[in-house]
Amino acid sequence: MNICYYNEATVQIKLKTQYHVGSGFGLGRVIDSLLRINPDGVPVLPGTTVSGIVAQGLYDLLHFSFFERERDTICAFHNPHIPEPRLPCAISRPGEDPCMLCYFLGSSAQEGIIAWEDFTCTSDKELILPMLKSGKCSADERQQYIKPYASHKQEMRTGTVLDRHLFFFEEGAALEFEGTIRFSESVQENKAVYLAAAMLNTRAVGRRKSRGKGACKMSGSFASFENNKQVRTAEFRELVENIEDRKAL
Ligand SMILES: [Zn+2]
Repeated sequence: MNICYYNEATVQIKLKTQYHVGSGFGLGRVIDSLLRINPDGVPVLPGTTVSGIVAQGLYDLLHFSFFERERDTICAFHNPHIPEPRLPCAISRPGEDPCMLCYFLGSSAQEGIIAWEDFTCTSDKELILPMLKSGKCSADERQQYIKPYASHKQEMRTGTVLDRHLFFFEEGAALEFEGTIRFSESVQENKAVYLAAAMLNTRAVGRRKSRGKGACKMSGSFASFENNKQVRTAEFRELVENIEDRKAL
C-alpha cells in the first residue's frame, strides 16, 4: 500500500452560537473586551486560539480507550496532571521520536511542525465582508455580526450585581472561518489522522464555553504537493472513518 504524506490542511470552523475571542484590549469604560478583528474590521480567529483548541482536542482524544497506547507516550510537558517540573520529550528522551503533542504543537524545547495563521471569516462573502471592510455599515447592520453583551457577577445571597463586577464584551455572531495550516515537514498519514480526529472532536472555541458560547464544528482536508502542484487531497472525515487502518500503517 502507498504511504501518503501531506503538506498542508485547509480547515473550516463553523460557529453554532455566538462566541468571544478577545483582541486583548477594550474601549475604556464602554467595552471591556473587543472582539478580535483584522485591519479591515472583519472578524478573525487568531492562529494561537485555533492552535490552543487543537491542542486541547488532541489531549482529549487520549481519554478514549482506543488511544491507550498513545496516552502512555505523551510527555510530562503536555500532561497537566503531572507535578512540575514537566519536561518535554526532547529533553526527557532525546533522540527519540517526539510525542504526538510535541510533534504537532511543539514544547519549550522544540518547535511544532504546524505553522498557524489567522483564520478569516468566510460567512456571506458578498454581504458581510464588503460591508465591514468598507466601514460603510450602520451600527445596526454591524450589530448583526458583532454586538456587545453584558455579564456580571452576582452576590449569591441577595442577587445584586457585585460592585465592579459588571463586564461588557463584544461577541461575534455564528460566523464561519477558514484558514490554511502548513507543515514544516511532510506528515505521514498515520500521524495526520490524529490531527484530523482532534479537529473533528473539537466542540468549542473562545471564552465562556461553559456557558454555551463558542460552540463550533471543525472540518477540513489535507493536501499534498509535488513540485508546487497539488497532487492529492483527503477529507478529515474520510481519514478518520478508517482510523483503525490508518493508525496501523
Ligand atoms: Zn512530548
